[in-house]
Amino acid sequence: QPQALRRPIRELPDELISQIAAGEVVERPAAVVRELVDNALDAGASQVTVRLLAGGVRLILVEDDGQGIPREELPVALRRHATSKIASLQDLEAVGTMGFRGEALAAINSIADMSLLSRTADDAHAWQLDGRTGELKPAARSQGTSVEVRELFYATPARRKFLKTDATELAHCIEAVRRHALVRPDVGFAIWHEGRLVEQWRAGQGASAHEQRLADVLGNEFVEQSVAVHYESAARRPDGQPAVRVWGRAGIPDAARSRADQQFAYVNGRYVRDKVLTHAARSAYEDVLHGHRQPVYALYIEMDPSRVDVNVHPTKIEVRFRDSREVHQAVRHAVENALATPRAGTAALPAT
Ligand code: ADP
Ligand code: MG
Repeated sequence: QPQALRRPIRELPDELISQIAAGEVVERPAAVVRELVDNALDAGASQVTVRLLAGGVRLILVEDDGQGIPREELPVALRRHATSKIASLQDLEAVGTMGFRGEALAAINSIADMSLLSRTADDAHAWQLDGRTGELKPAARSQGTSVEVRELFYATPARRKFLKTDATELAHCIEAVRRHALVRPDVGFAIWHEGRLVEQWRAGQGASAHEQRLADVLGNEFVEQSVAVHYESAARRPDGQPAVRVWGRAGIPDAARSRADQQFAYVNGRYVRDKVLTHAARSAYEDVLHGHRQPVYALYIEMDPSRVDVNVHPTKIEVRFRDSREVHQAVRHAVENALATPRAGTAALPAT
């Protein structure tokens, strides 16, 4: 048996560590869009604009009017495991922000040409950091942050080869923003591609804002052919809040589709794809939907953050529930109750 050649154990260079991490987080342009919009929302933005070229492969520019990054922290933002969002294990147990791993900007910077342009309320002008050279220079913009990502995967051609057509990558980018838009009707979103406005969802306030956003993003049919979901589990948290609250809208059986492309589930404001939730929602339809018909829904689950682990996967799209039976029952009952309630006529929507 030939002796395998043994090489000494060495720590990998920082850049390579980031590139390896990027492989997990950034599979395509839409993943960059998701991370940058997450950051904009975490910064308290009220308007987020996404500009793309070539489906995001040539350019992804995300602009927000959030709190901005102070000049001296701009270089830190690009470092691995550098974050302003958690500082301790306790914080991790009850994460209230989209981000917390401090990985996205470092990862993206290792596989694309990136620049950060930002201005805080205290700055007299903006500062721009070139991710490659580290050069920091004065620049112009109003309060907020613009993150520019050019030539994604230029350093990892293997990854670049897996990209689909610009139209397909664009569709994934739009889907990424749509997932944010459905949970933040108080924030305005705009998506531009090749200089053309392709989607725009205006910020709304008040009780009707959420329903209006669902109509804007998913179409009036979605709202007209769905019923309101309101459910609180009987079990209580120590502070008296229901252990699990589920709200949103669930499509009537007639609105079901052949594909599961209008199923949106959120846990504490975070879009997730989770087998427990998908199964629970589908099971509420078991008597009324046959074969492979897929229900449509937008469901928002709120629960004690310490009973759900969001730190399962770098993309944070998967979660783990402390008690998945509790969540399954809540979602199933929530949808079943909503479907069983006679519809009092569809809510009148303002004309769009
Ligand atoms: P994370 O979001 O997990 O903290 P990121 O790598 O995405 O990690 O971002 C690193 C840090 O840069 C954030 O913690 C935040 O302080 C800052 N940051 C990134 N994007 C923005 C933005 N759009 N506005 C304000 N601060 C930002
Ligand atoms: Mg982030």
